[in-house]
Order: sequence, then structure tokens, then C-alpha cells
Amino acid sequence: MSALQPVRGTHDLLPEDMRRHRHVVDTARRAVALYGYQEMSTPIFEFTEVFKRTLGDTSDIVTKEMYSFERGGDHLTLRPEATAGVCRAVISGGLQQQAPLKYFYYGPMFRYERPQKGRLRQFHQIDIEIIGIAEPLADIEVIAAGARVLDALGILKRTTLEINTLGDSESRTIYRQKLVDYFRAHQARLSEDSVNRLERNPLRILDSKDDGDRHIVADAPLFDDSLTPAARDFFAKVCDGLNRLGIAFNRNQRLVRGLDYYCHTAFEFTTTELGAQSAVLAGGRYDGLIEMMGGPPTPGIGWAAGVERLSMMLRDVTPAPRPFAIVPVGPEGEALALTLTEDLRRAGFPVELGYRGNMSRRMKAANKVNARAAILIGEDEIKRGAATVRDLDSGEQAEVPLQALKDRLAQFR
Ligand code: ATP
Ligand code: MG
Repeated sequence: MSALQPVRGTHDLLPEDMRRHRHVVDTARRAVALYGYQEMSTPIFEFTEVFKRTLGDTSDIVTKEMYSFERGGDHLTLRPEATAGVCRAVISGGLQQQAPLKYFYYGPMFRYERPQKGRLRQFHQIDIEIIGIAEPLADIEVIAAGARVLDALGILKRTTLEINTLGDSESRTIYRQKLVDYFRAHQARLSEDSVNRLERNPLRILDSKDDGDRHIVADAPLFDDSLTPAARDFFAKVCDGLNRLGIAFNRNQRLVRGLDYYCHTAFEFTTTELGAQSAVLAGGRYDGLIEMMGGPPTPGIGWAAGVERLSMMLRDVTPAPRPFAIVPVGPEGEALALTLTEDLRRAGFPVELGYRGNMSRRMKAANKVNARAAILIGEDEIKRGAATVRDLDSGEQAEVPLQALKDRLAQFR
């Protein structure tokens, strides 16, 4: 450990990374605004209970990934995901009465897991939630909004949408029993984690990342045979809606969300471009969640996507805007440069004023910041109330009266 290194699993977002990161978040925010999702945010930490109760005692997050601490007698946890906090906020504010609630969310999340490419301990998610709508139309819209975000980022074609249904609670009770029977017959070969889940939440075994478990899971009973007609109908409507919108998907009967509170639709946009980390955007329906937290029964559905994973998939990101460079020559030039620079910035032009050096050094500085044009101010120009504007791409230059300078610079846009 060295205090001069970032903590394992965390990273710095230097300007180049930050630009990609911002691009992902801004693009998503714009895309989901078209669907009526409004941005909101909740505190980065909550009472530990908020996550324990909602994610379930058997989830990976609660059993091993939470950053929990005690302060002033309170047990607190850095949020590992957004949905629990959003639902807590809905209950705290009695907001379910204004349903449907449609939220966009962005922020850092914290999970103590083994860091790898695309897997961090502090990462960022974008997230949407629609609360108060039990109809399959909400499922369709939420998935469509996810596809729209990926499309706007230029990566939709490099992802695959997998969807599944986890049925209603009646279906899950039937399925659960079949799973318990099946896994109990193979208990000796299951991982310790999965044996622990056997009684408490056998569905979670389907999500196991243990190789031995995966072999056993491969032959486990399929959910479809346990679906009630109502659950089957719900899922058919979701699939039909996606088909009508031209959103391609694969049915993946093994797709279960890692968390305990999901029902009906579960989905994941995956990619093969990020090594072992295949999920870029994942979500599902959580009708029981708000009630389980102690609020009134309120349905909900949403998704979350990792900003770092999306950033890694971006190909071209608009480069930083190119500034103009003011290059004073001589002491008089310097005096005028200071006020002119500020004047241009006030008018909305990005302007760099080299801090020191002679003309050639300042021209170098202008190239270093990738300036679009240099504005040279020397004694002769000052006498004539003008500046010389040099296009740094073409090398062409011309003298421009100071009153006309802004119009000339505007032409570079
Ligand atoms: P995984 O199967 O990769 O562990 P998950 O099921 O734990 O994912 P979710 O809780 O559904 O992930 O979170 C939604 C998205 O957040 C993921 O699809 C992924 O893009 C991102 N994400 C999750 N955990 C991490 C992490 N540790 N580092 C970076 N991104 C992450
Ligand atoms: Mg995980």
C-alpha cells in the first residue's frame, strides 16, 4: 500500500477520460429526457438497512461488496447501486402519490469486489427508473430508452439485448420449489455460496459465477414451465412491443438479476468487447421492492449502466473545443492582451493567453493547446487599432480591426 497511489479499484478521471465520461452521461441525459425522465439524486450514503433489506441477505453485494462504517452510532453504507436509495427517497417524501415517477440518475457507486478491466470499486452508473406503472408498456419503454442511449453513443450495434422473465410471485413459488429439488439432488457438487443460497434464494444460484456451479446450472429446470398464464401473457406483451419497435433481442432463460427484488422482465445489453465484463446496461422490474422497504405497494422498473464500461466502448469522442491564442508582442501588446482576452471570454470565445516568454515561445504554447487561430498583438497593430489573426491550420493571416475581431473569430466556428 502506498498513500501516493489511488486506492486499488479506484481511478482518476483526467481531462481526456473526463471528456469521454461526460460524453456518456450528457448523451444519456439528453436521450432519456425525450422519454420524460427527470434527473434526481440521493445521498451517497444511506443507513445500511436500506441496502440490506432491499438487496437481500444472500446477494453478492450484501454478503461481500458493501463499504459499511459506523458513525455516531449509525450504521451507514456507501451506495452500491441507485435503486434502493431512489425508492427510499420516494417513500421518505410520499412521492408515490404523484406516480408515475420517471427519474434519471447519475453518480458514483461503491462495491468491494476484485478489480479488473471494467470492474472497479468506485465506478459510476447512469440509471433510469419508472415508478408506479405495472403495465408492460413501461417495460418496453424502459428497454427502448436503454437502446436509445446506446444508439446515441454509437454502440448499440455492438451489443446484444438478452431478456428473460422472472414471472409473478406465484410463478416464482412454483419455480423455486423445482429449483430447490433439483439443486438439492446436486448439493454435494455445489459451491459453498450456492449451498447457502439453496434455501434462502435458489434463483440466485442461476447467477453463480463459479465454474462448477455453472455446469449444474446448465441442466437446471427452465422457468418457462413454471410460468402462470398471467406472467406468460405479460412477457408476451413485452416481447411483442420490442418487436414492433424493431429492437432485436435474444431470449436467455438463464438470465436472472443478481438482486432479490426482481420480477417479470429482466434484461441486459451485453458486449464481447470488454473481456470478462460483458454487461453494459442491465435492469428489470421490481414490483415488490417499495413495499418490502415499508412503503405502500408500488411497482417499478429501471436499468443501470456502468459509465466506465460505456466509455471504454466509445470510438470517436468530440475533441476538446479549440481555443484561440492571444500572442502579445512587447510590453504594450501585453497590456492590451490581458483586457482583450477577458473581453473575448465574456463574449463566449475560449481564449488562452500564454503566461510567459517571447513570441516564438508563445506560438509554441498556442500549438500545444491546439489553438484554432492565434491573435497577434504587436506595436504596429496597436497603432492601427487592429490585431493579426493567423489561421493555425492553413497558416493564412490577415490584419483585422479590433471592432471586427469577434465577427472574424465567429467564422472559425
Ligand atoms: P456484473 O455481472 O458485471 O457484476 P452486476 O449484475 O453486478 O454486473 P448491476 O448491479 O446490474 O451489475 O449494475 C449495472 C451495471 O453497472 C453493469 O451492467 C455494469 O455496466 C456496471 N457495473 C456493475 N459493477 C461494476 C463495477 N464493479 N465496476 C464497473 N462497472 C460496474
Ligand atoms: Mg456484480
